[in-house]
Amino acid sequence: VLRPGSTAEVAAIVRLARTHHVGLVPQGGNTGLVGGGVPRAGEVVVDLRRLARLGPVDTASLQVTVGAGVTLAALQRHAGHAGLAFAVDLGARDTATIGGMVATNAGGLHVLRHGAMRAQVLGLEAVLGTGDIVAANPTGLVKDNTGYDLPGLLCGSEGTLGIVTSVRLRLLPAPARVVTALLGVDGVAAAVDALAELRGCAGLHAAELLLADGMALVGRHLGLPPPLDPLPPCAVLVELAGDGDLLGQLGAALDRLGPVVRATAVADDEAGGARLWRWREAHPEVAAAHGIVHKADVSIPLTELPPFVDQVAPLVAARAPGAPLLVYGHLGDGNLHVNVATAGDDDGGAVDAVLALALDLGGSVSAEHGIGVAKVSWLLRQRGAAAVRTMAALKAALDPDGICNPGVLLPA
Ligand SMILES: Cc1cc2nc3c(=O)[nH]c(=O)nc-3n(C[C@H](O)[C@H](O)[C@H](O)COP(=O)(O)OP(=O)(O)OC[C@H]3O[C@@H](n4cnc5c(N)ncnc54)[C@H](O)[C@@H]3O)c2cc1C
Repeated sequence: VLRPGSTAEVAAIVRLARTHHVGLVPQGGNTGLVGGGVPRAGEVVVDLRRLARLGPVDTASLQVTVGAGVTLAALQRHAGHAGLAFAVDLGARDTATIGGMVATNAGGLHVLRHGAMRAQVLGLEAVLGTGDIVAANPTGLVKDNTGYDLPGLLCGSEGTLGIVTSVRLRLLPAPARVVTALLGVDGVAAAVDALAELRGCAGLHAAELLLADGMALVGRHLGLPPPLDPLPPCAVLVELAGDGDLLGQLGAALDRLGPVVRATAVADDEAGGARLWRWREAHPEVAAAHGIVHKADVSIPLTELPPFVDQVAPLVAARAPGAPLLVYGHLGDGNLHVNVATAGDDDGGAVDAVLALALDLGGSVSAEHGIGVAKVSWLLRQRGAAAVRTMAALKAALDPDGICNPGVLLPA
């Protein structure tokens, strides 16, 4: 494991790796869920957490430059001290790094309002597999139409083209108020209807989907009474943020929805909001408490979400009988996480069946976690031969010796 403390040290590592034909595995917080930051065949891990510089917040342009090893939580605190916020948030915030989030084009809880990481990255510095240090729009110019979008290309490249060392990021004014609500509905179709109405709320910045089975498992695991009594078949966790009349916006949406929403729990303070969010954020740890977790992270067109959820449970039960199943995720983006917990390593093909169903319904086999090593065999089916050839050509140009995360994203 090498732990560089500067871009120059990263470049020296890449040069050495080229000379000695050694593969490099960039690693940030190691919270990735598709195995892309884990060495597999004697590669050297390049741990980037020492690149933890927090640059001054530019309150005129609402931007900041941070090192790739800065954690999301540290960035959030840093921006918060200047009265600003960062648009992307996710449950792994205390450990995930900005470099890893760029490399995976992380999504998270507020994509429906602000987009994923790619939308926040104005510029970056990286050491490519060639050993070149590229500084692409390091001053964060909002307008710079001078050729290929290198920061955009490195977003989602999962360490296969080079190593990101620092990033120029967009910030936002911190919201004056936040309102959180859990809305109980009769099923996934009703949840999609509720989402359509909630989109009329100017402050909408999160809409998450929870199902009764998952909420029951969370309640048992945490020893909590149900957040809505009786527990509905399905719930939408909604967050509104901004400086308008958020409770008024929510109330008006609920009026329009009428009987579609069966029960409601609302919190307009931080502690109450955190209590409601716990029901969503505990899902991964609850799955892990039930065995070895096999994960599918799929995107589904919203119109196909109800049939997807209807078909998932029997599909999984046929392949992994009795295995606890948690289905939850980012309703606003049509992004569901399907977690199957089994006693052993074998899921009986349950995840593959779920991915095939997502593809059949016009979705994606990876919404936000990336391809890593876990989903390499699906890339061709998802993107087609021409797109995969194009990606391989880009890789060959920027990483001619194949030292950058070999075997990740594209077959080695
Ligand atoms: C509880 C939990 C909740 C999560 N929630 C979400 C969510 O809501 N949305 C979401 O998108 N993801 C989520 N994730 C997944 C994970 O947090 C993200 O993928 C995150 O972006 C990974 O950051 P990291 O620093 O841990 O990267 P790592 O896991 O260390 O690495 C991830 C990939 O990026 C590469 N990489 C890391 N740093 C660099 C760098 N500086 N330069 C080039 N390549 C690099 C690695 O080689 C690897 O391929 C969650 C994970 C957990 C455990």
